[in-house]
Amino acid sequence: MEQKPPYFLPHIAQMRGYVPGEQPREAGFIKLNTNENPYPPSPLVVERLLAACNEGLRKYPDPGATGVRQRLSQLFGVGMEQTLVGNGSDELLNIALRCFAGPGDAVVYPYPTYAYYEKLIQLQGARSVMVDFAEDFSLPDAILVPSARLTLLSNPNSPSGTLLSREQVEAVVARAEGLVLVDEAYVDFSAGGSLELIHRYPNVLFTRTMSKSFSLAGMRVGFGFAPAALAAGMWKVKDHYNVNHLSLVAAEAALDDLPAMRTNAARIGLTRQRLTGRLRALGFYVWDSQANFVLARTPGPSAASLYEELKERRILVRYFAQRRLEDCLRISIGTEAEIDTFLEALEELL
Ligand code: PMP
Repeated sequence: MEQKPPYFLPHIAQMRGYVPGEQPREAGFIKLNTNENPYPPSPLVVERLLAACNEGLRKYPDPGATGVRQRLSQLFGVGMEQTLVGNGSDELLNIALRCFAGPGDAVVYPYPTYAYYEKLIQLQGARSVMVDFAEDFSLPDAILVPSARLTLLSNPNSPSGTLLSREQVEAVVARAEGLVLVDEAYVDFSAGGSLELIHRYPNVLFTRTMSKSFSLAGMRVGFGFAPAALAAGMWKVKDHYNVNHLSLVAAEAALDDLPAMRTNAARIGLTRQRLTGRLRALGFYVWDSQANFVLARTPGPSAASLYEELKERRILVRYFAQRRLEDCLRISIGTEAEIDTFLEALEELL
């Protein structure tokens, strides 16, 4: 029997930790498993980072992330007091759960989605209410749970890549009694986005990330938008120096060069289209993705063994051994060459 040290709170002792996608220690892998951007960030990021490795490192970073928030305010047409910056959007999700969900509170989200939500809810001792997505990943009406303190929507959703329209998101926000957090980590790869709802509803907040479209997963910067009163309260919960100096410098530079991000996102969109077409021609069922990955259901062979066999060939994709996803692989969009290598390997294995 597993021995558990006695000091933990029971709900922590009982839960399992989140398992992120593998980050191999050795070089030489084609990594299509954690939705990183295959292209480098704007050259401005590197330039400013090199210049920032100076006196700035000796001091604490700006606890208010002022430079980043000023840019967010300008770029997105919101007040600075409506913006948040976190150590990845994971931190902002964490803060939201700590602010809005206590022991026993219902937190609702569709299934399957980003698995970290469940962990954050468990950490709070709150109650996960999972509502199954329809087969086509449309949102069932059951997502409106009257007792919900908080409803979480990843849009585009991971791992399906599917997008809810602004009208569909608004229908949830307008009818929800509690808060709705829209996680737009992948929105830059889509033709969607619901941010304007922030001007019309007091119960909606948004998180976004610089890890995907901005190619800065290693810097850990996420940002968020919330009605001013919510943002002010959330500010109390974050670590004061939650985003380090270099990450703030990188984030500012990346926001100063949106065309670089948009160019990469557009390239990824084209590769996604090609990958989707080829996978469908091979007999896979592929949901329409508006993110930098696709979810593909195999035409027969076990997804678990395809995952293993690809890994033997040093190609990493994501396999989720969980209900609704047992026969699926999630493939992040790599460079054209990486996707070619993946497709060649896959064709051989089939
Ligand atoms: N939301 C979703 C839906 C994600 O897939 C991820 C990435 N794993 C995140 C949030 C967190 O990203 P980050 O912390 O790098 O901003």
